[in-house]
Amino acid sequence: MDQPEKLAALIKLSHTLGAPERRLAILGEGNTSTRLSNDQFAVKASGCNLATLTESDITLCDSAKILKLLDTKKLTDTAIDQTLFDARLNPKAKKPSVESIFHAWLLTLEGVEFVGHTHAITVNQILCSPRARDFAERRIFPDEVVCCGPESVFVPYFDPGLALAREIRDRTTAFIKKNKITPRLILLQNHGLIALGQTPNAVQAATEMATKAAEIFAGAAAIGGPNFLTDAQVQRIAGRADEAHRQRELKI
Ligand SMILES: [Zn+2]
Repeated sequence: MDQPEKLAALIKLSHTLGAPERRLAILGEGNTSTRLSNDQFAVKASGCNLATLTESDITLCDSAKILKLLDTKKLTDTAIDQTLFDARLNPKAKKPSVESIFHAWLLTLEGVEFVGHTHAITVNQILCSPRARDFAERRIFPDEVVCCGPESVFVPYFDPGLALAREIRDRTTAFIKKNKITPRLILLQNHGLIALGQTPNAVQAATEMATKAAEIFAGAAAIGGPNFLTDAQVQRIAGRADEAHRQRELKI
């Protein structure tokens, strides 16, 4: 995809994730991004609505300027805001979301071209409960493994913005070291989910399957469950050639 195609795909993905009937985001909640090159990415501007996103609600940013925040100690909120403004390629563009910091970092990972972050009601039901970690680290049915990966990255509650972005970086790095794969889903305790992938379809699939899994998890928990898949069952699904074929067909 060239840059105009990527921006068009980002707008389409945003409208899909923001559609009211999906109950993933309302008002200015959630944000989406795409990698444009090694040096640049596009992200939803602060406070804009996913469902009605237009090209002027997307801000093109210099990745390095935002990534530098992750390694700078002791920054005030004002200094972070100033860096976000300074990272815009066009000084007339809107302010990038404070969550741009984790978008910038996730878009440096192998195989990640699109990122979608939402505050899905069904998923947050679990992430605001004592079962949050179980939901992230265990799996309950095969299609959850196919679309969300064998495990999700679990991130305990951190202050949105730089503190959260640093924790996402550290926990995702540990996940990749342990599992030797890029995660498809990152779950933020008391906050929401982040889906990542090579295509908008992959982001949409991981998001939709996470919301379905959350509903099933809540229902199963109400009657004494859930009964989790074993590690061997999860690894078997994750490694099956027919499932890999299905992933390619679905462009996820
Ligand atoms: Zn959020």
